[in-house]
Order: sequence, then structure tokens, then C-alpha cells
Amino acid sequence: MTAAPEFELGEPQLAVARRAQDRGLCDECLGRLLGRWGHGLSNPERAARMREALGAPAAPAGPTCPVCGGTFARLGVWTERAVRAAEELEWHRFTCGSRWDPERLAVEEALWAELGSAWGESARAAFNRELGKRVAAATGAEGGPSRPDVVLLADLPIGRVEVTISPLYLRGRYRKLDRTIPQTRWPCRRCSGRGCVHCGGSGRTYPTSVEELVAAPFVAASRAEGTRFHGMGREDIDARMLGRGRPFVLELLRPRVRTLDLDALARELGPAAQGRVEVSDVGPAEADDVVRLKEAAPEKSYRVGVAGDVALGKVKDALSLAVGRTIAQRTPARVAHRRSDRVRARRIVAARLVDGAEGRFTVELRTEAGTYVKEWVEGDGGRTEPNLAALVGAPLRVEFLDVLEVHDAEGT
Ligand SMILES: [Zn+2]
Ligand SMILES: [Zn+2]
Repeated sequence: MTAAPEFELGEPQLAVARRAQDRGLCDECLGRLLGRWGHGLSNPERAARMREALGAPAAPAGPTCPVCGGTFARLGVWTERAVRAAEELEWHRFTCGSRWDPERLAVEEALWAELGSAWGESARAAFNRELGKRVAAATGAEGGPSRPDVVLLADLPIGRVEVTISPLYLRGRYRKLDRTIPQTRWPCRRCSGRGCVHCGGSGRTYPTSVEELVAAPFVAASRAEGTRFHGMGREDIDARMLGRGRPFVLELLRPRVRTLDLDALARELGPAAQGRVEVSDVGPAEADDVVRLKEAAPEKSYRVGVAGDVALGKVKDALSLAVGRTIAQRTPARVAHRRSDRVRARRIVAARLVDGAEGRFTVELRTEAGTYVKEWVEGDGGRTEPNLAALVGAPLRVEFLDVLEVHDAEGT
């Protein structure tokens, strides 16, 4: 139960009421002069108590109010505008905001000073709250600051409500079975995605991506305008992602629908994804999950196919030497253009020879997060030390690489 209202007017508050009584303020603006005095009353109720205490008759409310210019009298209109602006969208939680003419807000602050009120509530805060109450009553949606589906911004000078639709976050794991697709959309470098002769007008470097294949059914169902895709790290384009798959968060931008049958959509990645990308464990997520994903530093397991003229016994010896040892990896030559050049200490956690024949062999490795596996095998021109090629004393070349598992907190 709410506590009984409390609004005892002492001499300082009565003095404010007295000085304000002939200013032509609407009930909302008069009451708001003492909006932070006492509790349990609406501002118009405060105004009524103030008038009663002074023995003054109720002043006519309306468009003449020098503080709000009649804005509060039009709350019903603003409520209708807000509801109409978002009526084509699915939303359950919302926040209201408003944009005011700065001069109007300055008039209000000057009035507080002039009338000597230390208890004024700002017009904007009161308007946002009152609009929120009315929108909640009209729609059944939940008003408040936490994780709104939409933000309804009443632009008072312009007379319009702007709707900002929050992204819809989904999490899941993806497996990539195709060695030709990148994790995310990769705009053409020449034209930055606008389309040019170089990319055949597509604006892309690769025809598709994990992001696009995974997002397609969710974009269609949510009628989103775009996506952002966040992976817990990423594999090379020519590496497969196997095992339980790699955790990701898909951000659907400006979705018009928010209630989705996630399991059904995950099964329907569509013909384009057949044999290329699979998703599992799809569920709802939040913005914070993106941060958690980016901060995670899981160990990973790899299978690596290597070409090199070396006896398998030597490979075994080298692997047992390598396990548990720290390696120093300078930023690989192939990524030096986008990563700062420094030396990282990483560890090979486990390693074993799987099989081998004339001139090639396969190893499985488990490494710390951030280990450049290809460079550890080949040596990267001495930028990784020690490296497998140096340990076996022969040049090595990685022929294929699969990520077998991302060992994140959710399991193995
Ligand atoms: Zn007013
Ligand atoms: Zn291009």
C-alpha cells in the first residue's frame, strides 16, 4: 500500500504559493513549484492544497500558462501521438522522453529563483513521468528506464513523437562447415560497400557470411532493418568451426516484431545455409551479453593439417616439448595492418599427433585464447618463438585448420 500523502505547508512554502498565485500558472506548473516538497500527491493536487491554504479561487488552466504554454493541458494529445507513432510495432516496455524549447526551461528556472522555491520539479521530468503513466494506461505496456523496447521522445516544439526502437538481442552457437565464408559481412575495400566495378556492384568481398546466413530468418521474422553480429572471437575464413560451435550474439536492429519462435527459426536457416552454417542453443540475450562475449578468453581446440618433409617421430617429440611451454608471438605479418605490433605470451595447453603419411601429418592442439595457431606451426618468419617448424627442423605449411571446440564457461 502507498503511504498516506504528506504535504504540510510551512511558512516558506506558503510564501512561494502566495508569490505565485497571480502568475497565471496552470495547476500542473503551480503544484510543481513545490513538486519536491512532501509526497503522495500529484502536482495538480499540490496546487489545490496551495490554493486552499491561501483561500484563493482556482485559476483557469490552459494555453496561457507562462511556464508550460499549455503543454500539460495537452497531455492527452501527446499520449495519442505517442501511441500512434509506435502502433505498427511490437513493444512491451518503454521509456518516455521529451525535447523542450530551452528558453521555456530557462523561464521555469528563473521563476524558481524569483519565487524562492527550493522544491521545484522540472517540467521535463514531470512531463515525461505523466506521459509515461498515460501511455502505460493506454497500451498496457510497462513504463520505466530498464531495457525499454522503444523510447518515445515527444518533440514539443515540433509537435511530433519520435520512436527509437531498441535492438533485439539473441544468443546462440554457430558451426561453420564451409571454408569460404567469413564470420561477418565484409564490405568491398574499394567502395566501402556502395558497389563498384571491382566487386561487381555487390559492395562485398565475399558473397555471404555466417552473419548473413544466421540472421536471415530472424531478420525476416522480426522485420528488422539490419544486424550486428558478435562472436566469441572468430576463426579464419578458410577454417571450419566444429564441435558445439562458437558462441555469438546477434543484434537485430530496429525490429518491428519482438516475439519470435526461436527454435523454429534456428531450424529454418534456409537453403542458402545448407551444409554451410548451423545454429544451436538459440535464446534471448541482452546488451550486456555482448560485453561478456567480448571479454571471454576461452581456450580452444584445433585440428591442423600440415605439409612438411619430416619424420613423424620428430613431430611427436616436438609436440611433447611444446606442451605447457610459453610461446612468444609477435603480431602476425598477415594481421599487422589492423592489430598493433607487439609480442604476446601464449601457451600450448595440449598437443597430439593424430595421423600422418608421406609429407603430411595432422595434429590436434588445445591453446590459450588468442594463440595464432598457423603462425605457431609455420613460424611466421621467426615472429613466433619457439614454433613447430623450428622444433622439427624443417619448413612446415598449414594445409587446413578446423576449430574443434571453443571451451567457454558453458561446458567442456
Ligand atoms: Zn503550465
Ligand atoms: Zn566495391
